[in-house]
Amino acid sequence: VSRFEGVKMAPPDPILGVSEAFKADTDDLKLNLGVGAYRTEDLRPYVLNVVKKAENMMLEKGENKEYLPIEGLAAFIKATVELLLGADNDVTKQGRVATVQGLSGTGSLRLGAAFIQRYFPGTQVLISSPTWGNHKNIFNDAGVPWSEYRYYDSKTVGLDFEGMLADIKAAPSGSFVLLHGCAHNPTGIDPTPDQWEKIADVIQEKNHTTFFDVAYQGFASGSLDEDASSVRLFVARGMEVFVAQSYSKNLGLYAERIGAINVVCSSSEVANRVKSQLKRLARPMYSNPPVHGAQIVANVVGNPVLFDEWKSEMELMSGRIKGVRQRLYANLSAKDKSGKDWSFVLRQIGMFSFTGLNKAQSENMSSKWHIYMTKDGRISLAGLSLSKCEYLADAIIDSYY
Ligand code: PLP
Repeated sequence: VSRFEGVKMAPPDPILGVSEAFKADTDDLKLNLGVGAYRTEDLRPYVLNVVKKAENMMLEKGENKEYLPIEGLAAFIKATVELLLGADNDVTKQGRVATVQGLSGTGSLRLGAAFIQRYFPGTQVLISSPTWGNHKNIFNDAGVPWSEYRYYDSKTVGLDFEGMLADIKAAPSGSFVLLHGCAHNPTGIDPTPDQWEKIADVIQEKNHTTFFDVAYQGFASGSLDEDASSVRLFVARGMEVFVAQSYSKNLGLYAERIGAINVVCSSSEVANRVKSQLKRLARPMYSNPPVHGAQIVANVVGNPVLFDEWKSEMELMSGRIKGVRQRLYANLSAKDKSGKDWSFVLRQIGMFSFTGLNKAQSENMSSKWHIYMTKDGRISLAGLSLSKCEYLADAIIDSYY
């Protein structure tokens, strides 16, 4: 008899479980719109040219595999803050940012959550309803209580801005507020610049602290600077913020696990102390981070030629997604004779589209049409090609009515 008889089977992950179901399907028509990973028009994974170039440079230099310091690679840390806040920004010059390399977006969020648990035990984090499925797991496992603020309005398939503000206002003063910096996952709906200002007003009024999750910088608008504007606006107002960054999507470094946790503080003195504690949290969890992805980022962001080339490749990726978004909308509008307005598909940004399909309808998409997606009605347009848009539109309309 096993010592582990009492261990129950864990449920499949709602996002990664979709890929497993997709793999098991043998139909030729099958389509995986579950996980947010970029594919080419012929639906193959894509390694960016700038990444290959950076890797060649690293080989030529003969980089070694020594341990990194706990906080990560110095050149990466410099590059990642610059990318987030802009080169020559005041807060970096003043030494007010505590940055520690993390295990991509997830690991960086987890480190921030561990910091909150240690220094603000019992303080809740407000997260959007809905949000990326892993947010709740991350805060649960870190022992940080969370509650939700309204975000999505099913009537308009848009932002419930009044509900969002009311819930942030109603939360106990000094809460943490998790905001998606751009390209909100799963809805693809972002606040306007004016709405960001109003969100900042309420957060300041309530002495809350913002925790930005920036997993899609460059993927919302195609511009790295524009996509960081929410974070920069809060920082310019003198607010202290947490920012988790990920290079999974924008540099296609999914499996390299490269990202960072940044804490913008009110003084360099505070930032130094915060950084020392982030390192102290990291040491017993994973000791120090992996080097390969950090070197790639440092080489791409730190080299003006590669940096420009990266920007063009990102425009190409985000452009392809905009193209399938247009095509999907055109097909939905042409095929749906009910007069339903599908234009929300065009208004959403980033890798995803929130279709408004419910759980049963999403299940029909997989069981009948071999189209795999998360049960919340989200589809990843990054995994869609122009040639599959018509089939997808047929499936959505069939499942919807
Ligand atoms: N945050 C959001 C909103 C995401 O959608 C993702 C990835 O899907 C992540 C964070 C983190 O991803 P990773 O850990 O691969 O960087």
